[in-house]
Amino acid sequence: MAGHMETMEYEDGLKILEELTTNAHQIQERVLEDILKRNAGTEYLRGFLNGQADKQLFKRNVPIVTYEDLKPYIDRIANGEPSDILLADPITQFFLSTGTSGGQPKLIPSTAESFEQRMLEPTLEDLVMKKHFDGLDKGKTMCLFFVKPEIETPSGLMAKFFTTSYFQSNSFKNGSAKICTSPIDTILCLDNKQSMYCQLLIGLLQRDDVVRIESIFASVFARSIKFLIDYWKDLCSNIRTGCLSDWITDPGCKNAVSLILTGPNPELADSIEHICDHKSWEGIIKKLWPNAKHISSIITGSMSQYISLLESYCGGIPLVSPLYASSEATFGINLKPLSKPFDVSYTFLSNMAYFEFLPVNKASREKAQELQFNNTVSEKASIEMTKENGNVEPVDLTNVKIGQCYEVVVTTMAGLYRYKVGDILKATGFYNNTPQFQFVERQNVVLSIDLDKTSEADLLKAITNAKLFLDPLGFVLTLCSSYTDTSSTPGRYVLFWELRMKESNDFPKLDPRIMEQCCSIVEKSFDFTYKSLRKSNIIAPLQIRMVKHGTFDALMDFYVSKGASINQYKTPSCIESEEAIKILNAGVIGKFFSPKTSF
Ligand code: AMP
Repeated sequence: MAGHMETMEYEDGLKILEELTTNAHQIQERVLEDILKRNAGTEYLRGFLNGQADKQLFKRNVPIVTYEDLKPYIDRIANGEPSDILLADPITQFFLSTGTSGGQPKLIPSTAESFEQRMLEPTLEDLVMKKHFDGLDKGKTMCLFFVKPEIETPSGLMAKFFTTSYFQSNSFKNGSAKICTSPIDTILCLDNKQSMYCQLLIGLLQRDDVVRIESIFASVFARSIKFLIDYWKDLCSNIRTGCLSDWITDPGCKNAVSLILTGPNPELADSIEHICDHKSWEGIIKKLWPNAKHISSIITGSMSQYISLLESYCGGIPLVSPLYASSEATFGINLKPLSKPFDVSYTFLSNMAYFEFLPVNKASREKAQELQFNNTVSEKASIEMTKENGNVEPVDLTNVKIGQCYEVVVTTMAGLYRYKVGDILKATGFYNNTPQFQFVERQNVVLSIDLDKTSEADLLKAITNAKLFLDPLGFVLTLCSSYTDTSSTPGRYVLFWELRMKESNDFPKLDPRIMEQCCSIVEKSFDFTYKSLRKSNIIAPLQIRMVKHGTFDALMDFYVSKGASINQYKTPSCIESEEAIKILNAGVIGKFFSPKTSF
């Protein structure tokens, strides 16, 4: 399919999109039939289907699982057993997911065919953008793309991040890469710092040609702009003299830059210097890349913490969250790129996998917890209520109900059967016959003391409320993370915050009263259980630890040094690693508690 992709005409792409969304039900049925026909005889599925490729039997007998259930099979394959214990087609590579299992990265199987199939998404995404933004084919994309080293499994199969595999693929090299400012060697350079420097340098050299800017996740984009703030003088000096900095030693990067940085360009250096030599970085993107029509970067879910920072850099250039995907599968694309960040929905692509949706009743789950807390129902009754919610049947893609939240379950061409990805989505509408979903949360409880379980979504909501309070005061909360501090009793939740002034990049003068109020706003935003436990002093007052600029960069460096991919890196909303907490603590310059009578 990718063969067509490189040359796919705009009209053909639109036809595919219409077909996928209009005939979603039929396509989903075909996808499942195909998966079962091929794989019913595998050791895994045989146990449930007796070798029969029967869709009804599949729905009755195959259990809904998590990674832990499939791990024994995946580990056997990684250790040298043939792939066909789990899937009929040979596994060609594993993808490393950012999720971990017992401290190890998850290995997600991929086949040649399943990988090729996923190459359709960038093409469809591109055509949606072209539909909404004029002139995209008249210029280049400044990309900020990075790769990570691969790991070899004992069986000799390679494990890498999906994005690394994509950037190494012919589909990318012969497709999107051709319109990127970054030469492929700068993207494929394993030293992320040299790679980032060279990609920014070339993006600046070709600033007038740049019609869009792209990174996979908003965190990478934010990181790149910070890097620009730190290195703009060096970048300008390189442009002025026509000589690349000595510390760029990677031969691929050096060679690629030498083809573009062909001589001194003091005029360009002057104009960039004129733009950057200011206290304020407000609107920097618009000033440096005036022809950019949009910035493409995932900004939903845990990335939403970067929205205000990026908006301040963008200077009005729209921020577009283009897709929703994971190592396991590509799920959907954003057909309304101009939606506001908090309104983004993704339309599922019906040919990518077989999708099922487990209804999640958040409200009644919370109600059960609340009743249990008040002892108004017996513990047993409460568990029954929760179980009832846990026993619901999944629905097919085209049968979801608008307004309902679901946990997404995938069956892929590459050995995942009724696999819970761990994401909660809310159905928001339909395009043709295909539902669109808002990303709600990664189904994980991030902070927990006693009976309280605060989810990532609840934490982000509370932080958004504090941001709203800070905004009129001229403060921007740029980065944050948290952890449960149980070093003393009772334990408390601790938030690490990095703040800056709106109008300049300066560190703000901290008024303890304002900070205490922030603590209080966060606590007030938490749910009933939290507040009850706080009132009865089972949870100690929440603490905000202000960190100096650069602390979160050190945190990212730490995770990247531990093997995280810079492309797929997301500042964790909550941290468990003691080493990581130490890094954040080393940057602390102020600690503030919520007042005793917070609510
Ligand atoms: P990984 O497998 O490491 O690429 O991580 C995939 C996970 O990233 C997904 O399961 C989601 O939790 C998150 N993710 C990916 N795309 C989006 C998106 N558009 N919005 C919010 N979260 C996303």
